[in-house]
Amino acid sequence: MAGLTSIIYILLFNLLFSVESPWSAENTAAAPVLKLNFYLMGREDVDQEAILKIGENIEYLNQEFEGSVKFELNQLFMDYKHEFLPKLYTDYIEKTDANVHQLVDGIEEEGAINIYLLETFTPSNGDQSLMGFTPILRGMHRTYEDNSPSFDRMFLAYKALRAKSTIVHEMGHFLGLSHPWEMNSLDIELLGLNNTQEMTRNHMTYNPDVDKFTPAQLHRMRDFAKRFRKYLLKT
Ligand SMILES: [Zn+2]
Repeated sequence: MAGLTSIIYILLFNLLFSVESPWSAENTAAAPVLKLNFYLMGREDVDQEAILKIGENIEYLNQEFEGSVKFELNQLFMDYKHEFLPKLYTDYIEKTDANVHQLVDGIEEEGAINIYLLETFTPSNGDQSLMGFTPILRGMHRTYEDNSPSFDRMFLAYKALRAKSTIVHEMGHFLGLSHPWEMNSLDIELLGLNNTQEMTRNHMTYNPDVDKFTPAQLHRMRDFAKRFRKYLLKT
């Protein structure tokens, strides 16, 4: 009889465990923590204003990611070297990386997301100035680690520290999100972007007043960090 009771207990325990584990694992497992290195390019003296704004931007990142992924400042660097943000973006599109190498070689530290702060300029055609970009792989995300640190970078305009939403948008790209207009209808639906209200205020649009990710986007970025950016996570 005692034997039967223990079997029932074990069954009950297994049942409870199997019912509860997906829920509790999702909610109580420690959020992945990504480390951030900031590089103040073209600066040789301490830029108090930029440093203060970096702190505010990290705080805003953590607020908008709602604990699904966490971000921590690792190191701050200052370096006299500089290249203009739009120039690096043109290089990226044209797949030339000599200027990037000139900028990062000798100063870049591995094992964190390397965020380069640069000056930008307004193009002569009257378009808005570029505020940031993130080199990404369109597929084969498992090879991020083999390619490290080439795809562990983000380039931001100093000006982008003011509004704070650029870093959040770029982090979305870093963790696998696309712009809504690049997505197929299934993905739009899976990520909860299939209503105008969600869409207009979403961080992955270019709209001026953005202030949210959907729960599905947060879930996907957390999953992406654990699968494909594991080598950058704080252990
Ligand atoms: Zn974008």
